[in-house]
Amino acid sequence: MATQFERRPDDDSILLPAATIAGTRYGASILEAGNAIHDASTGDVIGWQEHADAAQVDAAVRAAHAALDAWRSRTPASRGKVLRKIAELLEAERAQLSAMQQRVSGKPPLEADTDVSDAIATFAYYADLCANAALFGADALTVPDDTVIAERHYEAVGVTALIVPWNFPMVTTAWKIAPALAAGCTAVLKPSEFTSPVEHMLAAIMTAAGVPEGVVNLVNGGGEVGALLAAHPLTDKISFTGSTAVGRKVMQVAAQDMKRVTLELGGKSALIVRADADIEQAIALAMGGAFTNAGQMCSATSRILVHDDVYRKFMAAFEVAVRALVVAPPWTENVSMGPLVSRAQCARVKALLDQGVAHGATVAFSGTLESACAEGFFMAPVVIAEPDAANVLWTDEVFGPLACVKSFRTDDEAIALANDTRYGLVATVVTRDDEAARRYRQALRAGLVWINTPQLIFPQVCWGGLGLSGIGRELGVAGLRSYQELRHAVVARA
Ligand code: NAD
Repeated sequence: MATQFERRPDDDSILLPAATIAGTRYGASILEAGNAIHDASTGDVIGWQEHADAAQVDAAVRAAHAALDAWRSRTPASRGKVLRKIAELLEAERAQLSAMQQRVSGKPPLEADTDVSDAIATFAYYADLCANAALFGADALTVPDDTVIAERHYEAVGVTALIVPWNFPMVTTAWKIAPALAAGCTAVLKPSEFTSPVEHMLAAIMTAAGVPEGVVNLVNGGGEVGALLAAHPLTDKISFTGSTAVGRKVMQVAAQDMKRVTLELGGKSALIVRADADIEQAIALAMGGAFTNAGQMCSATSRILVHDDVYRKFMAAFEVAVRALVVAPPWTENVSMGPLVSRAQCARVKALLDQGVAHGATVAFSGTLESACAEGFFMAPVVIAEPDAANVLWTDEVFGPLACVKSFRTDDEAIALANDTRYGLVATVVTRDDEAARRYRQALRAGLVWINTPQLIFPQVCWGGLGLSGIGRELGVAGLRSYQELRHAVVARA
């Protein structure tokens, strides 16, 4: 099944409805209120989407509410079958999904394919969990009183509002929808206004896989639509991925009704290269950590700490690697980095770079752009050497292809520098010393630490950060639990 988009007759551009509620599309007349969707590599308009109004957001939440009882009453195994089917259909539509991801985000084919693989793995993983009855329903607890039976129950939280950003659209969405459906929750999804065609394809796949009407609904739009959805009195939980600034607003709104929240927010993560590191490996990990997805990653390791003894060697090799990056549209042979998602994001990152440089940051070297980059939202990768610890490029999430490198002399100094941030999402350490690796793993304040590996992500391993990087965990069993309420009963024995 290839997803059928409505098309505008005059130029064949995609028309996305304001909302898909219980299987019915609302509005695609374009455009009372809405936005254009661009090909990030060319700047061309490839589609239009209408934004949902308050009545449509309300209808979507009510549809999810109406569908809740039937969906959560199904056995986990029956929900698991639907999840398995979604994984299969994603696999069948891999090429189309990857192509759309490449278009709207400009991701190189390998990165776009990896996103599809991640979404498939996530649905398959939660399908597997659905076969484990112990994760659902009730079990007995041992208590020091044999006149009673104590039981604990895990049950679906209810109606969920799922709000996602544009940098890994299908992936962040799968991380929310798969565990929500597994737990028996229903959902209203609000994708990012920049990349929503990918989520529309995913929604069509879910319908084809047998997700019943009303169980997953979709509303299009920007922050105002997200805010309406988050505040709706019938949503029991908000799972939000995005900036820390908006995460704060979401949490404030959730506080009103004590809605459950999961917040996956920003980061300013460190990669530490010890003196004993394999420098070739360190360069590969630094390149991946800083420039994958053009640096538009919450997990970007944009603060690189390098031991003094290997600093010169590292910088020389890093410069060679950065200059060799092929920054180009996805259809370019050997492409290694694509554009940023939008003209506005490109301008924002360049303005931040200017601000950092105006306050004393030094550009050590930068990459180049291929000639095909003239029209899209491209920016060459930039490396800053030894910024002041108060420089905005060292302190703030840039969300673009920019890395800062600082030297250190001792492990204590590296740990203190790495932890000198209010974020705490991830960290990477490159070392051949097992004892040192253990120490870093324990001392670094981050939700996930990689030692001598690229940023490997498995559905079995939870994702989430400390401090300003968010609250709660996605993926893994904790990801399922975050869509369940834990209740207990103590019953007198007959
Ligand atoms: P954003 O916070 O601007 O927007 C995220 C989503 O929230 C979008 O769908 C947006 O329309 C919606 N939104 C905006 N205002 C809202 C409001 N008041 N109420 C409810 N929803 C609202 O973020 P972005 O620019 O789309 O994405 C980049 C940010 O996302 C970065 O800070 C990045 O670190 C973060 N991110 C975090 C993770 C993670 O797992 N920790 C993953 C990806 C991205």
